[in-house]
Amino acid sequence: MDLAYGEKYEHLRKEVRTFIEAHRDRAPRGQGVMGGQASEKMLTWQQLLLDRGYAARTIPRAYGGYGGNPDVLETILIGEEFARAGVSAGVSGPGVDMLVPTLLEHGSEEQKRRFVPPTIRGEIAWCQGYSEPGAGSDLASLTTRAVLAGDDFVVNGQKVWTTSAHVADMMFALVRTEPGEQKHAGISYLLIPMDAEGIEVRPLRSMTDEAEFNQVFLNDVLVTRQNLVGRRGQGWEIANTTLTHERLVAGNPRDLESTLQSLIEVMTAEAGSGQRAIDREVFRDRLMALQGRVLSLKSHAMRLLTCDLREESAGVAGLVVKLQACEVMYQMTALALDGMAEVGVLQPGSKLATSQGSWHTESMRWLGFIIAGGSAQIQKNIIAERGLGLPREPKPRPQG
Ligand SMILES: Cc1cc2nc3c(=O)[nH]c(=O)nc-3n(C[C@H](O)[C@H](O)[C@H](O)COP(=O)(O)OP(=O)(O)OC[C@H]3O[C@@H](n4cnc5c(N)ncnc54)[C@H](O)[C@@H]3O)c2cc1C
Repeated sequence: MDLAYGEKYEHLRKEVRTFIEAHRDRAPRGQGVMGGQASEKMLTWQQLLLDRGYAARTIPRAYGGYGGNPDVLETILIGEEFARAGVSAGVSGPGVDMLVPTLLEHGSEEQKRRFVPPTIRGEIAWCQGYSEPGAGSDLASLTTRAVLAGDDFVVNGQKVWTTSAHVADMMFALVRTEPGEQKHAGISYLLIPMDAEGIEVRPLRSMTDEAEFNQVFLNDVLVTRQNLVGRRGQGWEIANTTLTHERLVAGNPRDLESTLQSLIEVMTAEAGSGQRAIDREVFRDRLMALQGRVLSLKSHAMRLLTCDLREESAGVAGLVVKLQACEVMYQMTALALDGMAEVGVLQPGSKLATSQGSWHTESMRWLGFIIAGGSAQIQKNIIAERGLGLPREPKPRPQG
C-alpha cells in the first residue's frame, strides 16, 4: 500500500523541512500545551510561522491567519514535519485549539475580528470555565448565573478545575442565563475578561505537585453583552463544538508514536537493578500489546482522514479516539515507570531520575487527561448511545 501523499505534498514537505533546518535555533523549547502566557521567544516564533503559513494556515486573512485553502493533508503534513524534527509547532492551548475554531463557527463578525487575531498570535491566553463543584460529568447542571442588566451581564457563581486560570487573560465560560428554561436550553456561552472586578482565582495543587488548576469565584462580575457567543440559550450547542475540538487534541498518532519510541529507549537502557526492562518477558509482553494499539490507532487516524477527505461522517469511529488515545498514553507511561524499577518512583529534580523524572509527571498528567474533557466512563456512554444507538442510560430518581 502506498501511503505517500503525492507529488504536490512532497514538494510542501521539502519546503517545510528546509524552513525548519534554517530556523530551528529560533524556536522555543516545548509546546505550551496547557496554555498560559507565551514567552517573547514563542511570540516571535509564532509570527514567523504565521507569515509562512505553518500556523493558522487555513484561517482567513481577515482574522489574522494565512488564508490558505482548507486542505487537511497540508495541515497534517506540516504537523508531521515539526514533530519529526522535535521543533515547536507554535502556540497551542485552549485558545488556539478550542476557542478559535468555536468562534469561527459560532462567533459574530466583530468577535472573530477582535479575538481570533491576537489569540493565534499568542497574545491572549484563554482558560475554559465549564466545570463547577456540582457540575462535572453532568455539565448541564451548572448554576453560575448571568443576568442581563442594561448592556452588561452580571455574573455570579463558581468554576472549578479551571486549568491556567491564574495566568489567563480571558475565560470562555458556560453560564445560566435562562433560568425558566429546561436544563440544557438555559445555558449561554460568554467570554469573560479575567481582570474584571469581582473575579477571584484560588489555586488547587494537584498530584503532580503543580498548581495548574484553580477555583474561580465570580461575584457580581460585569461582562459586556457583546461577549455573548451565539444566541442566549445556545450555549450547550456551542460548548459541544469546543468539546469536540478539545477531544481531538488528545489522540494525535504522532504523539503516540513518539512516546512509544521514547518508551522503547527507556526499556532498552539498563534499569537501576542492572537489568534491561525489555529483557523481562512480562514487560516485553506489555510493550508488544501497546505497540499493537499504537499502530491500530495510527491506522484508525488514516481511516478518519479518509472520511474527512471524502466529506463523510466518521460516526462512532471518531468517538473512540479520545478514550483510546488517553488510555494508551497513560499505559505507556505506566510501563516506563514499572520498567525503571525503583528509579521509576523518583520525582523531577532527583539526581538519579531517568529523563529528569518526566515520566513520573507525564504518567500523572495522562491519568488526568483520561478524565478531562469528559471522563472515560462518559466517553463510553457517548459511544454507546450516540455511536451504537444503544438505549440511553437511566436517569437517577430524584431523592426524597
Ligand atoms: C487534567 C484536567 C484538566 C481539566 N481542566 C479543566 C478546565 O480547564 N476547565 C474546566 O471547566 N474543567 C476542567 N477539568 C474538569 C473536568 O472537565 C471534569 O473533571 C470532568 O468533566 C469530570 O467531572 P468531575 O471531576 O466533577 O467528576 P464527576 O462528574 O463527579 O465524576 C466522578 C466519577 O463518576 C463517573 N461518572 C459520572 N457520571 C457518570 C455516568 N453517568 N456514568 C458512568 N460514570 C459516571 C465519572 O466518570 C468519574 O469517574 C479538568 C479535569 C482534569 C482532570
